[in-house]
Amino acid sequence: MLFDLHVHTDISPCSSLELTTILTRAKGLGLDGVCLTDHDTMEVLSEVKEGVQNDGLVVIVGMEYSTPEGDYLIFGPFESIRPGMNAFELAAHVYRAGGAMIGAHPYRLTRPADLAAYGPEGCRIVEVANGRNTRSENARALSLAEKHSLAMSAGSDAHTLEELGRLPSKMLTKVHSREDFVAALRNGLFRPSRLACANGLPHLQVA
Ligand SMILES: [Zn+2]
Ligand SMILES: [Zn+2]
Repeated sequence: MLFDLHVHTDISPCSSLELTTILTRAKGLGLDGVCLTDHDTMEVLSEVKEGVQNDGLVVIVGMEYSTPEGDYLIFGPFESIRPGMNAFELAAHVYRAGGAMIGAHPYRLTRPADLAAYGPEGCRIVEVANGRNTRSENARALSLAEKHSLAMSAGSDAHTLEELGRLPSKMLTKVHSREDFVAALRNGLFRPSRLACANGLPHLQVA
């Protein structure tokens, strides 16, 4: 199953991508699922029924949480989360709640992460292919994942329809709900898709 793990609706001030556009176009772009990850809010839950849609598209709601140590995509059995945590507090909070987190674009020049937040006690999944990164920012994220043996994901970071679905991840298990999705993340059952590598990280070869 191909999922775009990093998508902003126009609830995020920087995005012009309407929820209805995502819902009507995602399947046609080859996606089986989309994760809606607006900045610091899961407000989109009031506008969409999460899970399997009429056309079979799977919609998962998480958020991109900003910390002084970088941005993190978080998913879990929560509908809101206390603002203002640092990355270390956030990781502890998310894992304690039974959730999962992905370090978004750790080397983006304008929004770099503190790499101390990555590792067994902190963020264990790195977004190695982000559609808004330069190829060198993605290549550096890949090196970070390899150096610390962290799991790797891809995501378009779409803010427009043109970006949606460009860098999907492949889910290696069936995902129909947020619960399934979080379990897949926690169990490492995902990887960047071939398309994501071609579009964002041509040096990474995946089977
Ligand atoms: Zn970000
Ligand atoms: Zn983003």
